[in-house]
Amino acid sequence: MVLTDTHTHLYYETDSTKRAELMQRCNNNSITRLFLPNVDTNSVAQVFDLTAAYPANCFPMLGLHPCSVKADWEEELNTIMNAHGDNKIYAVGEIGIDLYWDKTFLSEQILAFKKQIAWAKSLKLPIVIHCRDAFDEVYNVLAEEQDDDLRGIFHCFGGTLEQAEKVIALGFYLGIGGIITYKNAGLDKILPQIDLKHIVLETDSPYLTPVPYRGKPNESSYLIYIAQKVAELYQKSIETVADITTQNSIQVFGV
Ligand SMILES: [Zn+2]
Repeated sequence: MVLTDTHTHLYYETDSTKRAELMQRCNNNSITRLFLPNVDTNSVAQVFDLTAAYPANCFPMLGLHPCSVKADWEEELNTIMNAHGDNKIYAVGEIGIDLYWDKTFLSEQILAFKKQIAWAKSLKLPIVIHCRDAFDEVYNVLAEEQDDDLRGIFHCFGGTLEQAEKVIALGFYLGIGGIITYKNAGLDKILPQIDLKHIVLETDSPYLTPVPYRGKPNESSYLIYIAQKVAELYQKSIETVADITTQNSIQVFGV
């Protein structure tokens, strides 16, 4: 069985011994493919450190997170766009719009999102979208930018069935994480109505920890609890869920 964590910030752990333990726990739970998005300039080196240490398991993506979009976003984004050097990247992300924490830079967030979509298209790469309290704003940009090259993952999906269908109609996959294990979130009612061929799994570690570790820091090895919950909801074996969602991730990332 091979499980793929399509979104993890595992690189925040920089102690190499602890990092090796984290990777070992992933391996013990069959989570052997991890996709790592930076969030800003400072986290670029952390991402490449981890992918260099575990090249068979860890794959980098680059982007400017909407929460890191400030007045100087263009400079920050240029630095990130030039930061990959000889490293191959597998997606542009995470990018998008976040109006939960701060609405001050909404127009800058939209401009940065569009510029990074253009960047992804020029590299023929998928995008990984972060969207919080901004579904309509994100959707409008995607609808405007839609063409044969625009594709990717709507990370940490937690919306309605109608929103899920709109995202799927644009050719995007839904990233399903710890929220699926939260009883009051309601995502468990919606998900079984969506074909598994549109789903990829993720932890977003160290955030959004699934039950039974909710309240503690998340780690990629906990993807197993998300996969178990998804298997239970679809009444399929965890092996089938692993197989389909890993194939989906290969479709998106080309690896
Ligand atoms: Zn993230």
